[in-house]
Order: sequence, then C-alpha cells, then structure tokens
Amino acid sequence: MPRRLTGFTPSGDLHLGNYIGAIAPIVSRQHTEDTVVFISDLHALTLEHDPAEVRRRTLEFATLLLAAGADPGRSLFLVQSHVPEHTELHYLLECATGYGEAQRMIQFKEKAGRQHQVRMSLLTYPILMAADILLYDADEVPVGEDQSQHVELARDIAQRFNSRYGPTFTIPRAVNPPVAARIMDLSSPDAKMSKSASSAAGALRLLDDPDTLRRKVMRAVTDTGSDVTYDPARQPGVSNLLAILAACTGDRPDELAGRFDRYGTLKKAVADAVVDTLAPVRARYLELADDQPHVQALLRTGAERARAHAAAKVRKAKAAIGLLPA
Ligand code: ATP
Ligand code: MG
Repeated sequence: MPRRLTGFTPSGDLHLGNYIGAIAPIVSRQHTEDTVVFISDLHALTLEHDPAEVRRRTLEFATLLLAAGADPGRSLFLVQSHVPEHTELHYLLECATGYGEAQRMIQFKEKAGRQHQVRMSLLTYPILMAADILLYDADEVPVGEDQSQHVELARDIAQRFNSRYGPTFTIPRAVNPPVAARIMDLSSPDAKMSKSASSAAGALRLLDDPDTLRRKVMRAVTDTGSDVTYDPARQPGVSNLLAILAACTGDRPDELAGRFDRYGTLKKAVADAVVDTLAPVRARYLELADDQPHVQALLRTGAERARAHAAAKVRKAKAAIGLLPA
C-alpha cells in the first residue's frame, strides 16, 4: 500500500483549498491507506516570524486537522519539531546534496528575492523537506506545482544516497491533484487560494463564521458574460465556484454548470454548500479547543508513534553514511 505524506506549514490561515485539496482526502483515505500528516512548524521559521504566532498556529492547525476528522490512531499524526529525527536526518541529507542543487530551487529564488535578509534555512529547507519525506518512507507526496521541484530534489537525494551508501530510502514521487481539486482565490481566480498570498476576501478560511463565508462567496469575482459554464481557462471565476460546489457536493463541475442559468443562484448554492461543509469542522474545532489536555495528549502519542519509525530510519542512514553506532 503506498504511503502518502502531507505537511501543513503553520503560517497564514488554513482555507477551503487546503481542506478540499489536502485535508478531506486525508480523512477519507486514512481508513484504507497509509497516511502521514504533520504540522511542519520548522518550515515556518525560514522567513521572518513571530514566535508566539508560530506556537499558536501550530496548535490551531493540529486542532483543526483533528476537528476535520484526522485520526491519530490511523495515520501517523505529528508536529515536526516533536520528532527530533527530522533535523537529524536533515543534516545527513545535507551531506548528500550539492550547494548548486539547493540554490536552483525556484521557490528559494522567488522568496529570497523578496527578502531583505535571507535566512540560511530558506536555502536548506527543501533538504529538510526531503528529510520529512524520506524519514517515513513516503511513496507519494501530494503537492501543488510550486512544491513539485522540492519532491524532485527529495527523489534525487534518495537515489544518490542509496547508490552511494546502500539501499536506505524509499524513492518518493509527487502527485498533483486534479484541476478541479485546486481551489482558486475568490478575488483573483487566476491564482490559487493560498495561506500566504490570498487576501482576506480571496480565501475562505476554515475558521470563518458562516456569515463571513457567505459574504465572501457572494462577493466572489465572476467573469464577463453571464453564462454558467465550466471552462477554467476562459471563465476562471465561475469555474472556480463550480469546482468548489462540486467538491462540497461530490458532483462534477461540468455537470453542475447545466443546473444554473444565473451567477446569483450559483453563488447562493455555493455559499450554502461551503457553510454545510465547514460549519461542522468549526464547531468541532471550538469543542476541541476547549479541551487542550486532550489535544496535547494526542500530539504526544502521535510523536511517540512517529519516532518509532523515524528513529529506526535515522539509525540505518547513520550506519550507511559511515557513523559509528553509539
Ligand atoms: P502557502 O501559501 O504558505 O504555500 P498553501 O495555502 O499553499 O500555503 P500549503 O501549506 O503549501 O498551503 O499546502 C498544504 C496542502 O494544501 C498541500 O497538500 C497543498 O497541495 C494543498 N493546497 C494548498 N492550496 C490549495 C488550493 N488552493 N487548492 C487545493 N489544494 C491546496
Ligand atoms: Mg503552498
């Protein structure tokens, strides 16, 4: 059974795109597939950050994933920094990665270009991401286009390590979600809905209350013309609304298009479907947020289960690369 791994970096607010593209698939597959879910808090330290904010969001993200139905008894469920093997393997993989390879990462170039002071970790975080993946022998990593290059790097590092030092790591591959599972920004539907880049009006946040969700959907940008057709290239705004409705109801976006003749009725149906989907998650979140000891206990258990796997992998990698067993 292929093992899938998904990480959520606690910067910005989790949104409907994360839910549809990542969280809902995790929850529906966790009973039949092997899943690793983690909050990648170390990755949140690669850009200017507020310590209290990272801590708060780490707990918020973990609680939201639990509220959405992630089951730590089924999947490996952990906070990255609670499992020190991530950073331990990171160093070993740095010793199998070229400086030029890290520098070539497009995300690094883009993000570094926007920064005044570039942290060393911004250059090396794709290698930490490789460690996250290789530590658990993940076969598949569902990512958007922006992260595909990092999964490629993880493949290259794994292949190189295995051929130089002996079989140690499973070779992972990126899996891209289908177009209809990619939710776009409501205000600028040419860009994907994003934690870091979307405006407040452009993203439907998992913790937005129902009135806010409805208001945002009703104000979503639509396209010139008034036809309701599913054509992401030519009608990105309407197609995004159809994709959202389809994801919430389990229908197909092109089939749904035929049921609406006006933007107004489509938006009303989308607003209802989004509220029906997210309101129970928010309600469960508020309950769990009131029971911190329970959430903390789940995180402790999650880290312990993850460490059992991670520690064995690091032992193997250390021995392979030439370190004397303790
Ligand atoms: P950032 O802007 O910080 O990169 P993000 O919104 O892209 O944030 P990530 O933490 O990069 O979120 O991704 C978490 C998971 O959510 C990944 O599996 C990613 O593929 C998925 N995801 C992110 N945005 C969308 C979206 N708009 N539609 C569908 N899936 C998405
Ligand atoms: Mg992203």
